[in-house]
Amino acid sequence: MLVVMKADATAEDVVRVCSAIEALGLTAHPIPGQSRTAIGITGNVGPVDPAQLSNVDGVKEVIRVTRPHKLTNREMKPEDSVIRVGDVEIGGPDVVVFAGPCSVESYEQMSVIARELKARGAHLLRGGAFKPRTSPYSFQGLGEEGLEILSAVRNETGLPIVSELLSTDELDLVVEHVDVIQVGARNMHNYALLRALGQTRKPVFLKRGLSATLEEFLLAAEYIMAGGNPGVILCERGIRTFSTHCRFTLDLSIVPVLKRATHLPVVVDPSHATGQRDLVLPMTRASVAAGADGVMVEVHPEPERAYSDGAQAITLDMFEELMTQVRQLGPLIRQRSAVSL
Ligand code: PEP
Ligand code: MN
Repeated sequence: MLVVMKADATAEDVVRVCSAIEALGLTAHPIPGQSRTAIGITGNVGPVDPAQLSNVDGVKEVIRVTRPHKLTNREMKPEDSVIRVGDVEIGGPDVVVFAGPCSVESYEQMSVIARELKARGAHLLRGGAFKPRTSPYSFQGLGEEGLEILSAVRNETGLPIVSELLSTDELDLVVEHVDVIQVGARNMHNYALLRALGQTRKPVFLKRGLSATLEEFLLAAEYIMAGGNPGVILCERGIRTFSTHCRFTLDLSIVPVLKRATHLPVVVDPSHATGQRDLVLPMTRASVAAGADGVMVEVHPEPERAYSDGAQAITLDMFEELMTQVRQLGPLIRQRSAVSL
């Protein structure tokens, strides 16, 4: 159920409606918009009678939302959600580029990469400190030391940092050090982790699970939002199919489908999707063309020496070319999609 407030409704009207919702034993989620506020309702096991709310002052209409995803639903909030991290706006007019190595390897490595990426125009710095590796014998990440390195490099360069949280055990540590918390593809179904992230107020970069449907993906985001954290960024990173020519299959058609279904920003990760350095640039172009709000790419100055995912890491020269192309293509596509979406 969604309560749409009148354009001239006051803050007191919104509070009154929220109290009326809470009095019914339900949870109210005010969603301020450009011209009016909407209030999402969750917690109902059966239908709520719209008449209980439609006569409260300031209410324009009460809409039944039948889809299982509510807070993520564009019906709830027609305008795009823009997530601000420092000076960066994710989901705003510009295509945002998240870049960095797969893993944090050392202070020297991160410090050099961060400076080089910043000089080439990257908006956020990525780097895994806790790594979800298929084999227990592979490099597992530097853990807390990796987070400290990321913090130090953020302070040096001003680039906001994104790093993965693997388990609720490290939640406080990761919240303390990073600007955006990544939930990896293998953890998209970890509901305890998603619920815990709902209690934080740090933006969450949620990767689509390897076999997740659109609905499962949105419901994972819903877990975070239902806890009270509105800052969710969705990331398509390739799914598993019968196709073996790439590491995964980049499901690009989910980009416009997500943009239609939800107000949340949508980012594409062509690095993990393809697993091959030479495919990162063409699939970045395709992602921007499909309407992605950003891309996340793995970059390493010496990919052959990377501790993890070297085959898909692009070099700094390739990254420079990628930024040039994103700068050219982004405005062209985004002016058009403002008309068509
Ligand atoms: C990563 O971003 O390094 C990563 C492990 O991604 P994913 O969860 O998409 O495999
Ligand atoms: Mn990786």
